[in-house]
Amino acid sequence: MKKRILITGGAGFIGSHLCKRMLDEGNEVICLDNYFTGSKKNIVTLMENPYFEMVRHDITESYYAEVDEIYNLACPASPVHYQYNPIKTMKTSVMGTINTLGLAKRVNAKILQASTSEVYGDPDVHPQPETYWGNVNTIGPRSCYDEGKRCAETLCMDYHLQNGVDVKIIRIFNTYGPNMNPEDGRVVSNFIVQALKGEDITIFGDGTQTRSFQYVDDLVEGMVRLMGTPNGFWKPVNIGNQNEFTMLELAENVLNITGSKSKLVFKDLPKDDPKQRQPDISRADKYLNGWKPKIQLEEGLKKTIAYFDSVL
Ligand code: NAD
Ligand code: UDP
Repeated sequence: MKKRILITGGAGFIGSHLCKRMLDEGNEVICLDNYFTGSKKNIVTLMENPYFEMVRHDITESYYAEVDEIYNLACPASPVHYQYNPIKTMKTSVMGTINTLGLAKRVNAKILQASTSEVYGDPDVHPQPETYWGNVNTIGPRSCYDEGKRCAETLCMDYHLQNGVDVKIIRIFNTYGPNMNPEDGRVVSNFIVQALKGEDITIFGDGTQTRSFQYVDDLVEGMVRLMGTPNGFWKPVNIGNQNEFTMLELAENVLNITGSKSKLVFKDLPKDDPKQRQPDISRADKYLNGWKPKIQLEEGLKKTIAYFDSVL
C-alpha cells in the first residue's frame, strides 16, 4: 500500500538516498529541508516524480501534514557544520524533535529518529552495545551535537511512554557515499576530494584513531527495516559496519584506489575527538531480520570516488 512519508533533512546526504528508496518502493514523499547543509542537487532527479514534494522549512518551527511515517534526519552531521552555530544545532535536535514528535502524535504517524554513535562519546567500552550509556563531555565543542542527539532520544522515549507514539531510534555510525557535500568536512569526503585534486591529505592527530565506515545503502536498508518493526518496538538500534580502520589506513585506501600522488600532512587533533569507534550490531541482527552491512570499504570507496570524480 502506498504510504505518505515525511523525510526531514531529505535534501542532505543520507536523506536524499532515503527519498529515492521510498519513491522507488511506490510511496509518496514529502522532503523537508532548510538547505543548511543539504542541496537541491541531491534531489533534482527526484523532482520529476509527481509523488515527490519538496518543502523549504526549518524544523525548529512546527510543520503540519497528514503522513503515515516520519524519518527525522534534519541536523547538520559534520563537526565543521554543527559547530558553526552550536545553539542552532541544539535547537534543531531539541525543538525540532519536539515539533516532529508532536506531529507524529497528532497524525498518529510512526517516527524514526536519526540518532548517532556520538551518544557514546569517547567510549571506554569497545565495541559499543546499545546498553552502554556513553562517555560524553557536556561542555565541549562536540556537546551541542552529542547532547542534542541524546536529548532527542530522551524525548522519543517520553513521547512513547506518555503519549503512546510509535518511536524508532537508530544510532548511526560513520556513513559515507555519493551525495556527500564536497565541502562537508568529514574524513571520507575530505580525503577523496584532496586525493582527486592532488592536494595534501589532512590527517588530524597521528592518524591512529579509528572509525568504522558504513556505505550509505547498508544504512538505508537498516532504516527501512527498523521502521518496519512491530508497533511498540522502541529499543535503540546501532546500524554500522564493524570493520574498523585507522585514519592512516583510510588515507592509504583512498590513495591506492585513486592512484593519487597526494602527500599526507599532520594537523592538530580536534578537542574531544573520539579515539575509537565500532558498533556492536547483534541487536540489529536479532530484531531486523539478520541485518548486516554488505558493502565493505574498498567497494564503497570505489563507488564514492566515482561519484566525486563526476561532480568535481
Ligand atoms: P547532512 O548534513 O548531509 O544532512 C542533514 C540535512 O538536514 C541537510 O539537508 C540540512 O540542510 C538539513 N537541516 C539541518 N538543520 C535543519 C533544520 N533546522 N531544519 C530543516 N532541515 C535542516 O548530514 P547526513 O550525513 O545526511 O545526516 C543525516 C542525519 O543522520 C543527521 O540527523 C545526522 O545527525 C545523522 N547521522 C549521520 C551520520 C553520518 O555518518 N552521515 C552518523 C550519525 C548520525
Ligand atoms: N579527520 C582527519 N582529517 C580530516 C577530517 C577528519 O583526520 O580531514 C579525522 C577526525 O579527527 C576523526 C575522524 O577523522 O578522528 C573522523 O572524523 P569525521 O569528522 O568524519 O567524523 P566523527 O569524528 O564525527 O566520527
